[in-house]
Amino acid sequence: MEYECSIEGMILKAEELMKMPKKKLVEVSCESLINLFHTADKITTLKTQELADTLKFDKVKSVQLVCFRNPRKLGTCDSSGNIRINFKTFFEYDYEGVIGVIIHELCHTEQHNHSKKFWTLFEQSCKRIGVLPSEYDGWFIDYIEDSPFMFIGPWKRKYHPQKYSIIRNKICYPDYFLGQNIYTLKSV
Ligand SMILES: [Zn+2]
Repeated sequence: MEYECSIEGMILKAEELMKMPKKKLVEVSCESLINLFHTADKITTLKTQELADTLKFDKVKSVQLVCFRNPRKLGTCDSSGNIRINFKTFFEYDYEGVIGVIIHELCHTEQHNHSKKFWTLFEQSCKRIGVLPSEYDGWFIDYIEDSPFMFIGPWKRKYHPQKYSIIRNKICYPDYFLGQNIYTLKSV
């Protein structure tokens, strides 16, 4: 199977998979899904580097696509600039949302928190790239996580947790290493 090498192509492929009946989905070969993951990994790395160059974020050390155990986690960035993006992001967002998640983690290379300063930088960066929807009129508070300024992006999120779990279980080992915050990817 060949996949178009772009963020948009990857989202289309994810949509195609989520539209399949569960019975069909479990029949998709592990190998093709693992290859899809690796393609998505390459695309994510290239796009993150491209966005970092455009937005002049120069502290990115590495970029990696992963499957997080925490289903709410879409990305992380540690204090050294190592960025991790959840494979699930491609299944939950359209183009603008996926780019928004990447920009969110890029902003963390400068601001390691969810302070107002962070959200201002995030908003400016999203505007520069042109991924904020036209109806956007400021951030609204969604839930409090690690600071009083935890906002949610204005992009529509698509939820299909059960079908995504089928994909994740096909490409990752089950809960063997419970201490880890990411699933271990199978190899082909
Ligand atoms: Zn964050």
